[in-house]
Amino acid sequence: MESELKKYLLEQCRDWMLKEEIKVLMRLGLTEHGETVTRKNALVEYKMELLYGFQDKKVNDLASLGKTLAEERIAKRILKDNPNILNNCSNCGKLARTPKAQQCRYCGNKWFNKKL
Ligand SMILES: [Zn+2]
Repeated sequence: MESELKKYLLEQCRDWMLKEEIKVLMRLGLTEHGETVTRKNALVEYKMELLYGFQDKKVNDLASLGKTLAEERIAKRILKDNPNILNNCSNCGKLARTPKAQQCRYCGNKWFNKKL
């Protein structure tokens, strides 16, 4: 059937449809829309889960401590597992800006970066 005619019949001739025909069209329209929404939600939920780990027990346990305690715990863990991560200036002893920095932001001293 030609599409203009089909559109005319399906959209403009509801009063001539059987009850079951109307139900079928409504249900298929709902399903079509519903599937799109469901897929979108599933994708968003998946991405959100990847990003925030709402179903990850380790993440939930740590997050439940609150920002201050969680940050403290994370910082301590990094230092404990990577004791060489501190990059102190050999001249003034102060902490460099990053673990890979090769220049002191306080006294201007420069050095070759140690391997991490
Ligand atoms: Zn320095």
